[in-house]
Amino acid sequence: MPEFRQNFATKEWVIIATERARRPDSFSHNPGERRNPPPFDPQCPFCPGNEEKTPAPVFQISQNGRWALRAVTNKFAALREDMDTQRSHVGLFLKAGGHGIAEVIIETPAHDLNPATMTPECFRNVVEAYRNRYNSISRQEKVELISVFRNHGPRAGTSLEHPHSQIIATPIVPPHIRDPIFQARVAYDTFGSCIYCEMLAEERRQKERVVMENDLFLAYCPFASRSPFETRIIPKVHHSSFGRIDDQEVTAFAQILQEVLKKIYIGLDNPDYNYIIRSAPVSESDVKHCHWYTVIAPRLTTPAGFEMGTGIFINVSYPEQCAQFLRDVKT
Ligand SMILES: [Zn+2]
Ligand SMILES: [Zn+2]
Repeated sequence: MPEFRQNFATKEWVIIATERARRPDSFSHNPGERRNPPPFDPQCPFCPGNEEKTPAPVFQISQNGRWALRAVTNKFAALREDMDTQRSHVGLFLKAGGHGIAEVIIETPAHDLNPATMTPECFRNVVEAYRNRYNSISRQEKVELISVFRNHGPRAGTSLEHPHSQIIATPIVPPHIRDPIFQARVAYDTFGSCIYCEMLAEERRQKERVVMENDLFLAYCPFASRSPFETRIIPKVHHSSFGRIDDQEVTAFAQILQEVLKKIYIGLDNPDYNYIIRSAPVSESDVKHCHWYTVIAPRLTTPAGFEMGTGIFINVSYPEQCAQFLRDVKT
C-alpha cells in the first residue's frame, strides 16, 4: 500500500509508492554506460601541466613538491564577486546584482579517480579543503549562504570529468532553505531541543535505516527519503555550521562519507549522484536549533510533473531496504 511519510524536521511529505516499489538491487545500471576516463587528459584544464588555464589557487595542498589539491575561483560561474547586492525594482518586481563567490576544488591531479577510488589521505584533503574554503568565504561581508557540493556524472549535472567539488556562496537565503530553519526554530521554542539531534537519536534507536556509524557521525537513509538510496550523514556533536568542525571531525567525516560513497559505487555500479553539505546561514553559525548535515542523492530516478507540481516526491523504494542493501555491501 502506498503511504505518505513526513520529514520530522522540515514537515515536508513524501510518498513511498509500494505498488511501484522496486528491489534495491534492480537499480544498478548497465556498466557499459560509463566510459573509463584516462589517468591523464592533455586537454583537461584541471590536469597537471595545464595550471595556467585556471586562475591562481586560493588554497593548495602540496605533497612531495607537487600539488595534491588545488582550489581555484570558478571562471565560468553564474555569480561574480565584484557585483553588489543592492536591490532595485523593475516596476513591481525586485532584482539585485548577481553577487556571489564560486570556487572549484580540484581534488587530485589524477584525472580518473573519484571519492570511491581515491586514497583515504586524498579524500581527507578534500574535506580539509571544504572546511578551509567554507571558513575563509564565511568571513566575506556580503555572503550569507555557503553551499559545498559535488556532482558526479552527467545525470548529476557535471560537465568536466576531472574529479572536482564546488562551493557557491550567495547573499540570498531562498525560502526552501529558510523554511526548514524556521521549523527547527519552532521545534526548539516548543521542546527546548534541536530537532536534528532528536532525529539522530531516534534513527539510532530504530536502527533499521542506519547504513553505518563511527564515533562522530551517523549515516542513514531517512524515514521520509525523497528518492531511492538518499543517504544522510549527520554529526553526533551539535554544530549548526559545517565550518565549526574540528580536526578529529574532519577525519571522521571524510572516513564515513568516503565509505558510504564506496558502498554506492560498488553496490549500485557507479551511479551518477550529487551530494551537498547543508549548513546554517553564516549569521546563524552558532545557534542551538540548526544542525548541519550532508545529503547524498544517487540519480536513479527522474522527478516528473507530479514532483514539480506538488513538491511531494514519490520514492519507489523503501528506505529500510535501501539501508539494509548498503549495510551489506562489502567495501
Ligand atoms: Zn583532468
Ligand atoms: Zn543538533
